[in-house]
Amino acid sequence: MSKEVNKGHTVTLIHGDGIGKEVVDATRKLIDATGARITWEEHEAGASVFKKGVPSGVPQDTIDSIKKNRIALKGPLETPVGYGEKSANVTLRKLFETYGNLRPVREVRGVATPYSGRGVDLIVVRENVEDLYAGIEHMQTPDVAQCLKLISRKGCEKIVRLAFEVAKAEGRKKVACATKANIMKMTEGMLKRVFEEIAPEYPGIEANHIIVDNCAHQLVKKPEQFEVIVTTNMNGDILSDLTSALIGGLGFAPSANIGTDIAIFEAVHGSAPKYAGKNVINPTAMILSGVMMLRHLGEFERARVLENAVLRTWEEGKTHTRDIVGDKKAASTTELVEEIHKNFGKAPTRFGSRDYRPIVIPKWESTQKGAPKTQKTLGVDVFVQWNGDAQSLGTKLVDMTAASAFKLKMISNRGTKVFPLSGTNPDTVDHWRCRFLAKEGAAVTAESVSALLQMIEKTYRWMHVEKLEEINGQAGYTKAQGED
Ligand code: NAP
Repeated sequence: MSKEVNKGHTVTLIHGDGIGKEVVDATRKLIDATGARITWEEHEAGASVFKKGVPSGVPQDTIDSIKKNRIALKGPLETPVGYGEKSANVTLRKLFETYGNLRPVREVRGVATPYSGRGVDLIVVRENVEDLYAGIEHMQTPDVAQCLKLISRKGCEKIVRLAFEVAKAEGRKKVACATKANIMKMTEGMLKRVFEEIAPEYPGIEANHIIVDNCAHQLVKKPEQFEVIVTTNMNGDILSDLTSALIGGLGFAPSANIGTDIAIFEAVHGSAPKYAGKNVINPTAMILSGVMMLRHLGEFERARVLENAVLRTWEEGKTHTRDIVGDKKAASTTELVEEIHKNFGKAPTRFGSRDYRPIVIPKWESTQKGAPKTQKTLGVDVFVQWNGDAQSLGTKLVDMTAASAFKLKMISNRGTKVFPLSGTNPDTVDHWRCRFLAKEGAAVTAESVSALLQMIEKTYRWMHVEKLEEINGQAGYTKAQGED
C-alpha cells in the first residue's frame, strides 16, 4: 500500500467503557488494513477497573505498558460524577504529564451543518494538566466549596510552544490565544503574557490574544477566521466541544494528548453508554484519532490513505450513521467501517487530508523566574467561618487583634468588600476573607501570624491563611471589589 518504511510499532490499546469497544475495534481494524505493522498490547482502564477496587481506575500493568510503549490508543473511560473516585482520564493525563491536548476539526463534506462549504479547519490546543483540573478542592465551610486554579509559567510555556510548533508542522499561519485575562489577571493573565513573550520567536505566524467569551462568540459567527487556538484547560474543554459541533458533532472530533515523550490518542467524546453494543454509533472521531496516531508514528502516507478514505466515505453519503441521518436511514457502525475500507486509495473532492510534517518541539530553557530580586510579605488574608454580619465581625476583629503585629484593612465576602462598609450591602455567606496588613515596622513571621490566629480563634473558626506577597515590587494578590 505504501512506500514508507514498514517499521514495527507497539501500541498500548485500551478499549475503555460503553461504546469504547466498538470504536476502538473499528479503528484498530482500519489501521491494520493500512499495512502499518503495529503490535497491539491490550490493557484495561475505567469502569471495570474501578469495580475491581482500583481507586485510580488505571491498573499498574496498564501504566507499565504505556510507560514502555510511550504511545496508547484509548477508548472513552467513564468517570463517577460528583463523588468517590477521580477521573481515570485525568489520572492518565497527569501520570504521563500529557500537557497538551490537540483537538482538530475539519469540515467533512457530505455532513450538512450550518457551516457547510465554509471550510472550517482549525485546531484547539488545550492545556491538559493544570488549571481547575489540578483537582485541588476543599470545603471551606459546610456550605462553601473552593477549587484552586493553578497556572504555572512553565505550563504556559509548554502549551504555547506546542501550539506554535503544531502551526508550523501543519503549515498554519495564525495562532490565537484565548483567555479570561481581563478578570483573572494572574492565572489566565499568565498564559496571555507568556504567549506574547514567545510569539516573536515565530515571525511567520500571526499571533493574537482574544478574550475567551468573545472567542466562543466568534467561533459560532465566523469559525473560518481561526487556525490554531491555544487556551487553558477549562476554556479548552468547553471551546473544543463547541468546535466539534461546527463540523457535525462529537462523532467527528479526534484528539491527541501530547507529553514530552508519551502520546495518548482518543476521541473527544465519552462512552455514550445508551448506545453501547448497539452497532449504531459513529466511529469517525476515534478513527481520526488513529490517523493522528499514525502521523505521530511517522506513518504519514498511511495516515493520509485512511483519512482520505474516511472523508470520501462521508462525502459519498451512502453509509451515514444515525447521529447524522437519524434512525430510519442510518447505516450501522460496521457498515460504515466496511465502506471506509473499500475507499482506501480514494480521496474526497473537497476538504481532503491536509499536508503535515512531524511536530518537533525544540529544547528550550524555561524562563521560570526562580528567585525574585525582591520578595516581601506585606500581611495575610485570614479566611474565617462566621454566621453573622460584616459589621459585628469587623468591629470585633479590630478589637481582639489590636495587640497583634497586624491591622485589619478590610473584610470581603465572595470577593466584594463588606467591611468597612462602602455604601452597598451585598448578600453574604459564612465565608469571610479578613485582610490584615503588618503594622509599620512589624515583621510577618510564623510567630506573628500564629499569634494573630490564636487571637482570632478565641471567637471565630479560621479555615485557611494566604500570605500577601509583593514580588519584584508588584502585589502578588488581587484586591477585593471595592477595595482601595
Ligand atoms: P458522551 O459519552 O460524549 O455522549 C454525549 C452524547 O454525544 C451522546 O449521548 C450522543 O448524543 C453523542 N455522541 C457521543 N459520541 C458519539 C458517537 N461516537 N457517535 C454518535 N453520537 C455520539 O458524553 P457524556 O454522556 O457526558 O459522558 C458519558 C461518560 O463518558 C461519562 O462517564 C463521562 O465521564 C465519560 N467521558 C469520557 C471521556 C474520555 O474518556 N475522554 C470524555 C467525555 C466523557 P445523542 O444523545 O444526541 O445521540
